[in-house]
Amino acid sequence: MKVHENESAVEEVIGLLRRRGGSHKYRGNWRVTRLVCCPRSAYWWRINTPWFPDDPVSLELTFTRGKAHHGILEVYPDKEKKLKLDDITGHYDMKKDRVVEIFTTTLGLNRIKNPIDAATVFRIKTNQLKCYLKMEGGTEGDLMIFYLFGDYSRPIKPQLKVYTMEFEKNELNTHWKGILNRREDLEWRVSAKEPPEEVGEPYECINCGYKYKCIKWLQERYDMTIVELMEELRNGDVIL
Ligand code: SF4
Repeated sequence: MKVHENESAVEEVIGLLRRRGGSHKYRGNWRVTRLVCCPRSAYWWRINTPWFPDDPVSLELTFTRGKAHHGILEVYPDKEKKLKLDDITGHYDMKKDRVVEIFTTTLGLNRIKNPIDAATVFRIKTNQLKCYLKMEGGTEGDLMIFYLFGDYSRPIKPQLKVYTMEFEKNELNTHWKGILNRREDLEWRVSAKEPPEEVGEPYECINCGYKYKCIKWLQERYDMTIVELMEELRNGDVIL
């Protein structure tokens, strides 16, 4: 028997995965996922800035890992429903009694000491869930987290946790108002050609394909080279 590593087959698969992946083009309407992430990233996307990640293959495989688990975990028949409010669109992952937002992570479960910690550790996902609840009309939703490596204790065992979150109606209204304000501010910045001065969660920069637009700004902001900054972020609590 002979075995060889087939790089061209890998390239072909990655190329096909890329074609199935999401687009980085603004197509005339705002989406929840853009308004809960880094404002600078939303700005670059809004003006159709080309997306050039540092390591496109690794990024594609990271997305693939998330999407693959996501597809399997969407177990309820009501899934991927399109929502629209104030000309902003979004899709919840699935719904039974409550809307469920799913996330797969390599972060250790030990980061969550109390259930309330999930709202800060997974801030972007929680904000996304709040948007879907406002759009759908409910006040309770689930954040379902698949911890790929559990709490990293040996033997490694994946763990699934569901954090049911209850919000006051006012809390969701205030959150949505913040989303509308952010869109307004971004639209103003697009017309004024002024990128936002606000960054989202710092770890968002690691795999961001707009980094080449932010290098100087990030270096000034964090007073270190982009290489040092990325190294520090990678060694920190990355929740990919
Ligand atoms: S590199 Fe960082 S600051 Fe710049 S757009 Fe991307 S996530 Fe935002």
